[in-house]
Amino acid sequence: MDAIRVVGARENNLRDVTVEIPKGRLTVVTGVSGSGKSSLVFDTIAAESRRQLGEMLPAFARNRLTHQSQPDVDGLENLSAAVVVDQRRIGGNARSTVGTATDIAPLLRLLYSRVATPHVGYSPAFSFNDPSGMCPRCEGLGYVADIDLERLVDRDRSLDDGAIRMSAYQPGTYRWKRYVHSGLFDRAKPLREYRPDEWDLLLHAEEMTPPNPDREFPRTGTYLGVVPRFRRDYLAGGHSKVPQRVREEVERLVTRRPCPECDGARLNAAARAATIDGHTITDCSRLELGDLAAFLRTIEHPVAAPIVRAVVHRLDALVDVGLGYLSLDRETPTLSGGEAQRITLVRQLGSSLTDLTYILDEPSAGLHPHDVDRLIGLLRRLRDKGNTVLVVEHDRDVIAAADHVVEMGPGAGPAGGRVLYAGDVAGLLRSDTATGRALRSGPVPDRPPRRPTGELRITGASLHNLRGVDVSVPRGVLTAVSGVAGSGKSTLVTEVLPRAHPEVVVVDQSPPRGSRRSNPASYLGVLDLLRAAFAAANDVPAALFSPNSAGACPSCRGRGVIETDLAFLDPVTTVCEACGGSRFSDEALSHRLDGRTIAEVLALTVDEARAVLPAGRSALYRAADVGLGYLTLGQPLTTLSGGERQRLKLAAEPRVEGGVVVLDEPTAGLHPSDVAQLLQVLHGLVERGATVVVVEHDLDVIAQADHVIELGPGAGRDGGRVVFTGTPEELAAERGSITGRHLRRRLA
Ligand code: ADP
Ligand code: ADP
Ligand code: ZN
Ligand code: ZN
Repeated sequence: MDAIRVVGARENNLRDVTVEIPKGRLTVVTGVSGSGKSSLVFDTIAAESRRQLGEMLPAFARNRLTHQSQPDVDGLENLSAAVVVDQRRIGGNARSTVGTATDIAPLLRLLYSRVATPHVGYSPAFSFNDPSGMCPRCEGLGYVADIDLERLVDRDRSLDDGAIRMSAYQPGTYRWKRYVHSGLFDRAKPLREYRPDEWDLLLHAEEMTPPNPDREFPRTGTYLGVVPRFRRDYLAGGHSKVPQRVREEVERLVTRRPCPECDGARLNAAARAATIDGHTITDCSRLELGDLAAFLRTIEHPVAAPIVRAVVHRLDALVDVGLGYLSLDRETPTLSGGEAQRITLVRQLGSSLTDLTYILDEPSAGLHPHDVDRLIGLLRRLRDKGNTVLVVEHDRDVIAAADHVVEMGPGAGPAGGRVLYAGDVAGLLRSDTATGRALRSGPVPDRPPRRPTGELRITGASLHNLRGVDVSVPRGVLTAVSGVAGSGKSTLVTEVLPRAHPEVVVVDQSPPRGSRRSNPASYLGVLDLLRAAFAAANDVPAALFSPNSAGACPSCRGRGVIETDLAFLDPVTTVCEACGGSRFSDEALSHRLDGRTIAEVLALTVDEARAVLPAGRSALYRAADVGLGYLTLGQPLTTLSGGERQRLKLAAEPRVEGGVVVLDEPTAGLHPSDVAQLLQVLHGLVERGATVVVVEHDLDVIAQADHVIELGPGAGRDGGRVVFTGTPEELAAERGSITGRHLRRRLA
């Protein structure tokens, strides 16, 4: 058999794994969370392919890569170049749209430059990223940003009390000194009492030399009002060098409104005026992709034909994978991980390379069972082009569609890391493993629905594709919101519901703030307790046990890794040789608590820690409850999957008890056997008085809900309506509902 052969893999929890991945086939790697799927597929196979690709680079580049960690594996034979299509969002900036990410935008510009009336120029004249096409007012962004003064200044405070609510302007900072030492203001007077001319001077003054500065006024430099200073530092072009932390702060202080010149079209007047059959290029980029294809097909022009064919071909492929509701002008950072992943897949399908290994991370995430069928078609087409497709998945239908299945297990973390099964689906169905059992498991047991204790009303909701939706979410029960991808579920429950009822707590999958240096211990609040315990036991300051302050390894400054920037590749990170990745200084590691160093404590799993640590036990129990007992305390939050992050937030969020909690697809990344545990957690919350609302596609979760709200009937413009409300049983009996049809398969 022609296969990729992995011999003796030992990354993370893998225990000398030897396994074959047949080439030219669709292989699914499955297993309970934490069993080692990612360690095998991403940290071993994908990492080694990337490293070998690095070896082929010119020597000067290779020298900088020599420390790129080689995965812990004895051999990897027959490896072809790997393309990883993960769920990271594409393009983090507003200039990246569905049009640019799919390469359709340049084709459309070409079309307009050839056949539009009047004739404007070459195709860059239709590009908002090109000076000849961009709107001069907003420089192609489509919106203008400005400071929200009410958020920036606190009128009840004086300069001395930190009236300017930004960390860079807090008392003692360099920027703050320019204001208090300028000799222009009474630094102890609340801003509310400023005379109009003082107010103007503080906020809007042009650059000048203050007449009577005191001696501490920074010697090099002039005075500039807060608003122009802010604009120059953070809003003018080229501020991409502003660190992420500051950028987040700036984001909270600015408001955006559509550009008054182009009304969001991003293009200059000439480009906005050119039309084909009455449609401007902006009209085209605002149409849903399916409608755009329909319009383009009507263009009759000899020069246009080949371009139209190329565009329509791509649009059809996007519609085929269930993305027909998107539009070309949609900014990629607003796409969900699953949507971004499918866009990347479609782009790959259009490439002429073959014999690649495609590696995908849970492509079914965010997909309704109905859309999963289309996804499977896409994976098969990728395979049939002569590629090897390797997918980490839990979805029953994707597993059933595989040519070959590898199941990792049996448990999580140290209790996993072995191959339990490798072979075809028929064999898996007979095997005594978690996946085999889950696939064989009978219908979901019936559970009498609970009685609501009240309701949360939503009236006339009209955000995105919602059309005057009136619906009520029952209190005191578990509600599942279902519907195909793009039908409006997230819009309704994660945007509209919290705005209508501020008590709502949304527990989403986004990375928590500052997650680079955070880990489960810090996030759960256990770390501070641990540091205090270490400090007390050793009679030293607690800060010594922080890799972010006194305890930092001097070589990597507490990061544990060294990052090398390569101009033409992703930055390469290597483990710090001084601390071996522990992030701590030798001195910090010389102290112990009950025989363990702080680094050893952080290497414990949540399950191990709650047995031996006196501190923070209740938070650790909550983490174990949501199925995260296998995480180590010190694992960086950036290495967690979206689903794991979400469950960690659930464990760390005190307001969920007795409150109103919204979860967007909490089963993402969960094996069917883990879903059962998550359901216990959700039921427990409801039993203790909480209202729980989940956006879900998992039929087991929908079947176990007390109440279901289905949005639809389709996606985008064809969705946005409530098509069903009632119990799961009633939904299953509903002839017209696609969710109902799939649910019937799972209900008794
Ligand atoms: P799966 O993909 O099956 O959910 P993983 O391969 O991600 O499992 O994880 C297997 C084990 O390795 C888990 O115990 C996990 O906590 C651990 N692990 C994964 N990545 C890291 C990492 N970067 N650092 C430390 N431990 C890790
Ligand atoms: P679901 O959660 O059911 O997959 P969403 O609520 O994410 O659906 O999307 C519903 C519709 O709203 C889709 O047409 C989607 O493209 C659109 N939409 C969602 N988020 C945004 C956004 N930030 N900007 C513009 N349109 C959006
Ligand atoms: Zn503009
Ligand atoms: Zn170090």
